[in-house]
Amino acid sequence: MTDKELFEELSYSRKNAYEHMTDSEKKEMLELCDEYRDFLDAGKTERECVEKSVEMARLHGFSDINTVSKLKTGDKVYKINRNKNIILAVIGSEEIKSGVNLVGAHIDSPRLDLKQNPLYESNDMAFLKTHYYGGIKKYQWTAIPLSLHGVIFTKDGHKVILNIGENEADPVFCITDLLPHLAKDQMTKKMTDGIEGENLNILFGGMPFGDREIREKVKFSILKMLNEKYGITEKDFLSAEIEIVPAFKARNVGLDESFIGAYGQDDRVCAFTTLKGIFDLQNPKKTAMALLVDKEEIGSTGNTGMLSAFFEMTLAEIIEKTVGNFSITDYNSVIVNSACLSSDVGAAVDPNYESVYEKRNAALAGYGMVLMKYTGARGKSESSDASAEFVYEVGKILDEHGVVWQTSELGKVDQGGGGTIAQYVANLNMDVIDCGVPVLSMHSPFEVTAKSDIYMAYKSYVAFYNNR
Ligand code: MN
Ligand code: MN
Repeated sequence: MTDKELFEELSYSRKNAYEHMTDSEKKEMLELCDEYRDFLDAGKTERECVEKSVEMARLHGFSDINTVSKLKTGDKVYKINRNKNIILAVIGSEEIKSGVNLVGAHIDSPRLDLKQNPLYESNDMAFLKTHYYGGIKKYQWTAIPLSLHGVIFTKDGHKVILNIGENEADPVFCITDLLPHLAKDQMTKKMTDGIEGENLNILFGGMPFGDREIREKVKFSILKMLNEKYGITEKDFLSAEIEIVPAFKARNVGLDESFIGAYGQDDRVCAFTTLKGIFDLQNPKKTAMALLVDKEEIGSTGNTGMLSAFFEMTLAEIIEKTVGNFSITDYNSVIVNSACLSSDVGAAVDPNYESVYEKRNAALAGYGMVLMKYTGARGKSESSDASAEFVYEVGKILDEHGVVWQTSELGKVDQGGGGTIAQYVANLNMDVIDCGVPVLSMHSPFEVTAKSDIYMAYKSYVAFYNNR
């Protein structure tokens, strides 16, 4: 053995996934990514993602667990929580006490929510007030086409589902920004203050209607249109949930189409690949579960977030419908023998801003699935730090099944940080590790991922479900 060969054997360097894929894998990757773009366009809110997931699940033989009284090996079921959060499961051949294999992703993304009393008129223009959701750079949301999605109840309890701005024939909305000619003061502000939260107001109309008695003619015209089209009145906004998101569709990026650019890839890229992974399963040994949660971007709070008991309640329901009566001890052994991939995006090194990353320990776009042993900030605070035993176990499964993978943490020590659902899964006393797809321009209206990484995430979930 030459010194060079010995050095290669002893040292570690990660690989570009594109360079380690067969032609048939590349073909499969392109098909997967075509379907992924459609998934992104169909699901721009957590509610739409749940609806799309159910539609896909039913095509793959899954049925609503509420319609099933007993579960047996090979059964495929889903359970929906408040239209915003869903669990899918495939019952394994091993007894459930040996634990389940869980992959968890989130389907909420940073966006602008309408305030409860949003509509007002100013200077013969109608606007909607918003309150942003999740961590956004506010300037990125001005001067781009936006669409409106959500639910609103009429006075008599009729549920109206709104989706305006996605079809070519629809109008879109926007937040206006100051022209550079008059932005002398604005341009000297700190970036955090350049666009203020209370200025994220949506341009909603501008055609006055009504006689001299009416003081707010544009608002009147908008209310009249809303009433004629949807049967709603201004008061109905008080209980509505309406989300404003970028109106553009997912696109291939780069002359070689190696990337996908789209809104909401954090974390629908992991949600989609998790779904594709569980749909692929034929007869898994361990029961496989996919959990798509809401509210991760605001701290996993609420009854549809990871901190809700929905996962534990559904697991109990699955155990009961599989084995009949079971004790607390049985339940505890299911939990302790289970393991979870907390599948969420990582920050890919952005060559325009290299100084915030520590490149030896940062994810590279195109270098495959990212395992993140810990997240957190300032001394790993708020992190679930996966054990050496579990990181080894997962890494070995990935190696044995042709997955190109890398490890990373989010940026330089003390530069910032972030959290995921992992710490809350860990609280159940389950092994869990963060993993997922590296993203460029994370939390922006147009996030970018490498197709090879999307494909490797999918392969990872299939390998984990089938082999842990
Ligand atoms: Mn995320
Ligand atoms: Mn996020």
